[in-house]
Amino acid sequence: MKIGQPEKFIIDGKRLDGRKPDEMREVKIQAGVLKRADGSALVEWGGNKVIAACYGPREVHPRHLAKSDKAILRCTYNMAPFSVSDRKRPGPDRRSVEISKVTRLALEPVIFTNLYPRTTIDVFIEVLQANAGTRCTGITAASVALADAGIPMRDLVPACAAGKVGGEVVLDLFDIEDNYGEADLPVALIPKNNEITLLQMDGNFTKKEFEKALDLAIQGCMKIYELQKGALRERYGGE
Ligand code: UDP
Repeated sequence: MKIGQPEKFIIDGKRLDGRKPDEMREVKIQAGVLKRADGSALVEWGGNKVIAACYGPREVHPRHLAKSDKAILRCTYNMAPFSVSDRKRPGPDRRSVEISKVTRLALEPVIFTNLYPRTTIDVFIEVLQANAGTRCTGITAASVALADAGIPMRDLVPACAAGKVGGEVVLDLFDIEDNYGEADLPVALIPKNNEITLLQMDGNFTKKEFEKALDLAIQGCMKIYELQKGALRERYGGE
């Protein structure tokens, strides 16, 4: 069911789903959910449900894609037809090609690809249920799946978006805010060295709003980072 444009996005300091402007939706992360993948993760983030599966390092097909000095990373983002209210046509489209690419660019800098020349590391991201913010959910899931597969990495890559609705900067848009809001700013980063590996922007911010949104998204990423580590701790123990 599609809900029309709301008159107001924030009433008495609360958003339409009851959250405060700087509040994130509830996020649950589970590592190692698929038996046949080398590594996997399930992330439930508000109304999003996303599974990531990682395979490799393994032989590259087609062979000509192999690099003699490092592993290649391939990321495939796919949205299930039943994941959204208006059925999505199955198969790749411009949006999924774009998200697959930015996901790879977000994750590549943390992977020690030089350790596995002539191989590929493949990551599949399946969106089972979507409610805005699926690229951030996918990147979050993928980096836990990579870690679960035992791929040597410098750090995990958490992701989170901030946006603007009803003239106010808010954290982590849900679908009504995403559909009718004024801006969306998905961010992914490497916490260890504060390096941003994904920064996209949809809509308009003033410079001040942009700075506030970026700040908020970074804080969101740091919360996600803790949950990612918690999921791996849960599966493998340790600190
Ligand atoms: N969406 C949809 N149908 C589509 C693509 C997207 O209903 O074919 C919805 C879905 O809920 C998604 C949201 O629009 O999460 C926002 O999509 P966007 O491209 O901004 O990416 P996301 O915010 O999911 O990273």
